[in-house]
Amino acid sequence: MAGELILIVEDNEKNLKLARDVLHFHGYRTLEATTSEEGIELARTGHPSLILMDIQLPGMDGFEAFRRLREIPETHRTPVIAVTASAMAQDRERIQAAGFDGYHTKPISIKELPQLVRRVLDTNPVRTGPQGKPSRGDVP
Ligand code: MN
Repeated sequence: MAGELILIVEDNEKNLKLARDVLHFHGYRTLEATTSEEGIELARTGHPSLILMDIQLPGMDGFEAFRRLREIPETHRTPVIAVTASAMAQDRERIQAAGFDGYHTKPISIKELPQLVRRVLDTNPVRTGPQGKPSRGDVP
């Protein structure tokens, strides 16, 4: 099932366009933000099914944004994929230790990114919560 709403948080215009284009090509809808603050606000109000979070952002970085998203009731179960320019092992380990649901190393791969998005969405199925609102990761 495609058509899910994906929030892209990315400050680089070319990377934002590439991520948007590849996701639209695969049938997803997108919300877009260029800063962590804007991304957190859009995540709260827009209820995306997944967030692509650039790590290197001006001001608040992707780690801090992710930490805050996990503290907000509306977003604390939304899967987040880290997108990073660094392929260094220690950065990869830091991303995994932080609890991100996945990570993608730039340059953005038009083949691998949609595969990763699909895989993470499929392992985080939306379930209906007690108030009839979509929620994530509830034990059936
Ligand atoms: Mn960046």
